[in-house]
Amino acid sequence: MMTRVPIIAGNWKMHCTRAEAQALVAALTPSILGAAGREVIVAPPFTALDTVARAIAGTPIQLAAQNLYWEPKGAFTGEVSAAMLRDVGCVAVIVGHSERRQYFGETDETVNRKIRTCIEAELVPIVCVGEILSERDRGETAAVVEKQLRGAWSGLDRDAITKCVVAYEPVWAIGTGRTATPAQAQEVHALIRRLTTTLASADVAGNLRILYGGSVKANNVDGLMAEVDVDGALVGGASLQADEFARIVNFEPLS
Ligand code: PEP
Repeated sequence: MMTRVPIIAGNWKMHCTRAEAQALVAALTPSILGAAGREVIVAPPFTALDTVARAIAGTPIQLAAQNLYWEPKGAFTGEVSAAMLRDVGCVAVIVGHSERRQYFGETDETVNRKIRTCIEAELVPIVCVGEILSERDRGETAAVVEKQLRGAWSGLDRDAITKCVVAYEPVWAIGTGRTATPAQAQEVHALIRRLTTTLASADVAGNLRILYGGSVKANNVDGLMAEVDVDGALVGGASLQADEFARIVNFEPLS
């Protein structure tokens, strides 16, 4: 029997000064302390990582970054390395978020390099995949997600794949208030798990945590978390509101 501990991760995107980040964590922490049986991750912008690392010390909240670069050091203006993220206390990195693909030229190949870098540095890559609306409308969701995942994991062996977390984030649901239905999420999550069986093994697939992301809110998380292959959520906008995020963390799957 596989037991996958759910993950609720907050992607703060380009929000929060250090003072705002500190206030958000302070407001969140009390309601998260009582949430057993789930992992909670926050991903502030680079400039607030150190502040948040200090604020969450001694709590179960874990720290993630929103991006990294694959080179260890050097003349790469504006980039941040895995070692720098480790140094500041990160345990995970969001890789291949659709906003990075859309606005910053991230490709399946760069996602692959970043995943390899994370694994080498013992950072958990939270690998984002998902289709845009026109692809869904054309019935291409499965093909798009499969291509992204094959590209992301190209050349990775089972041991490497087992160190990943995947986030299925339909782009049409991100920041739009239009969430995938639990059934739509489940369909793609099941596909990702089947594909993982092919690309790695049934064992790796059974243990892989697949998060759903796209307008997850307090009022829809319980339905999503009731699906058998939904192992958590990657939360954008709602992770910036302490009460809302706390309720998401304290989800109770509908029966
Ligand atoms: C995200 O940023 O990954 C995300 C899912 O955003 P939102 O929850 O705002 O749709």
